[in-house]
Amino acid sequence: MKLAEYLTIADRHEVFAERLAEVATDDYRFHFSAKDNLCSTEFQARAGSKILDGYRPPFDATAVKKMRDEGGLLIGKTNMDEFGFGTFSVNSAYGVPKNPFDPERSCGGSSGGAAAAACLLPGHVALGVSTGGSIACPASFCGVVGFTPTYGRVSRYGLIDYGNSLDKVGILSRTAADVRQFLPAISGKDERDPTSCAQPALDMSGKVAEVAVPAELTQNLSPEVEKCFNEALQKLADLGIKVRRLSMPSLKYAISAYYILATSEASTNLARYCGMRFGVRNEDFDKSFNEFFAKTRSADFGEEAKRRVLLGTFSRMVGFRNKYYMKALQVRQLIISEYNKIFAECDAVVSPTMPFLPKRFDEIAAMAPLEIYQADFLTVPPNLTGMPHVSVPCGYHQGLPIGLQAVAAQWQEGKLVEFAENWEANSEYIFPEVSL
Ligand code: GLN
Repeated sequence: MKLAEYLTIADRHEVFAERLAEVATDDYRFHFSAKDNLCSTEFQARAGSKILDGYRPPFDATAVKKMRDEGGLLIGKTNMDEFGFGTFSVNSAYGVPKNPFDPERSCGGSSGGAAAAACLLPGHVALGVSTGGSIACPASFCGVVGFTPTYGRVSRYGLIDYGNSLDKVGILSRTAADVRQFLPAISGKDERDPTSCAQPALDMSGKVAEVAVPAELTQNLSPEVEKCFNEALQKLADLGIKVRRLSMPSLKYAISAYYILATSEASTNLARYCGMRFGVRNEDFDKSFNEFFAKTRSADFGEEAKRRVLLGTFSRMVGFRNKYYMKALQVRQLIISEYNKIFAECDAVVSPTMPFLPKRFDEIAAMAPLEIYQADFLTVPPNLTGMPHVSVPCGYHQGLPIGLQAVAAQWQEGKLVEFAENWEANSEYIFPEVSL
């Protein structure tokens, strides 16, 4: 199989390989890609959705612009679940990216194409986006480093919103050294995103000396993941890192709270796709507004997007709002305070990144939506609370990668970068080779 078949780049497959050759010229220092929900000139930005087919942004997202300013060449856009709705990248209107370790299996999602690109291309930096785990999950399935900064650390300007209070732009790459180099480059206050933050400034120093392992995050793991994670804890201890076992009772509400908040925000964000302003335009202008909008949205939103519009609209409705949306906001605060209690004494919370090995596509097809949502129980907590987290390759089972996730307190990215570097220095990462 060739590179493009793995990645299913969402726009102009051929450009990826062509552009790689250009990097060799003196004009560019490195190559990078952007997830398809990050706007850029030169490429369409479709966020994996048919409804945005043909949308060519006339501007760069801030993160993309900053990578270009560093001397990077944008080689393409990477495939993803439609608007970020998914865990396996199978919800794209533009094909499904394949796992570099086994093409019968998923890359994870929703930044699946980004993780595959980071894995398959040496020296590549992939910009990804996480709302509820979409950087960590695919990083884990593709055996790369996936770094999600604190909410607000990187500007969201030019990002096609999923959930505005949850979305974060981050980095996927083969090595933690790229995070050390490029996180400062893309971070910082941006007047075009009022939620981007200048304070506290990014501090790339810091060290993880003690980690916490909540019991809630070591249950419901597949035997392979459980074994690998226990070995990882032993390895951390051997590296002189203290491991403390504890409990975070509020985590049992994390998935419910996340899916209520994320879909509530998503359902309002998707309102703008009505077939008139962006992308696909149907020509039935003689119809009433309702008919016109309903026709476009019925035809061009995928099944998962529709499910989320329904769920999110319901959770915000008068009569249900207090029971669901407001309650979910309270749960979010509860989990933040539980994390903060732990961070008063420990540097990071560690767990596996995903509870199972990269799934085969036939297994995914047999999963019910709720089962897929549940699979995010390890990656959702740091995302719900806006805390920085990193997934690093933890080990391998029968040639398939397993991820280790570390979460730090807000604004403490430096500790996680050190943790990822330390882990990497004491591990051997494997990257499959494919022809370009
Ligand atoms: N799997 C989660 C969801 O479907 C997270 C996806 C994301 O971070 N974009 O919402």
